[in-house]
Amino acid sequence: MKPELVTEPAAWQARCASARDGGARIVLVPTMGFLHEGHLSLLREARRRADAGGARGLAVASIFVNPTQFGPNEDLSRYPRDLEGDLAKCAEAGVDWVLAPSSPEKVFPPGHQTWVDVTGVSQGLCGGKRPGHFRGVATVVAKLFNLTRPHAALFGEKDYQQLQVIRTMVRELAMGVEIAGMPIVREADGLALSSRNAYLSKEERERALALSRALFAARDRAAAGERDAAALRAGIERELSKGADRIDYVEIVHPDTLAPVARAEPGSMALVAAYVGKTRLIDNVALT
Ligand code: AMP
Repeated sequence: MKPELVTEPAAWQARCASARDGGARIVLVPTMGFLHEGHLSLLREARRRADAGGARGLAVASIFVNPTQFGPNEDLSRYPRDLEGDLAKCAEAGVDWVLAPSSPEKVFPPGHQTWVDVTGVSQGLCGGKRPGHFRGVATVVAKLFNLTRPHAALFGEKDYQQLQVIRTMVRELAMGVEIAGMPIVREADGLALSSRNAYLSKEERERALALSRALFAARDRAAAGERDAAALRAGIERELSKGADRIDYVEIVHPDTLAPVARAEPGSMALVAAYVGKTRLIDNVALT
């Protein structure tokens, strides 16, 4: 069945409040749309978790290209969109309701002046390269949580730093939302699914494989006993430069604090960001 589409945040808030008051378990998946299998894995899991108590709960999604998380020279205006296609995919995944605000001003009216700034874990990695990005992410997610008041919300490990920023925000501001991270969904050849893959030409798509290849090679080296983070980073950079046009960062970090580590331990994360053509891609793996 097609999900119900709500375009007014106030109407969404009223509807969610009444469902919650009626005892429904609400599970939210925030997205920017142009949905792919990665998003669908989250949406299907939301359906499952919403119904986990025995009664049928509510699996809900938001589709909002959030302007506050884009820098002035980023791809906000050309970010891919397909609301009709997204609604069909949401139907497939068993989503009940979709919030897709009819304009950015519905979420951030002119004069908006309140921001959620998670400091430590937002610094470095993507936060270092995209100033203001995580402030925009944390603020919109806080607002979506207030509008929806979900019991749980699902995020992909693809955006690993984002997941840790949200976890930190929810814990430190006592938001009372259970946060679950979901594994990265990849193409058969290893490329992590991303809405931004739509920007890649055929030739760039081929070169983009350098990200996952570099990370998988590092994971194998770590599994074989390599502990030196500098050596692992150098190996990743070498592999990455075979396909990427520009490396934004390569880091080996602690999985919770995201602080760089000198020695890789089981659970340490390797994270990369790199440009293929004009497209900025990110990926990560856990070093086991
Ligand atoms: P986005 O629409 O890019 O903001 O992503 C919405 C949610 O889907 C975020 O929690 C992402 O981490 C998650 N996501 C995006 N790509 C993937 C993927 N390949 N595998 C798993 N989750 C993903």
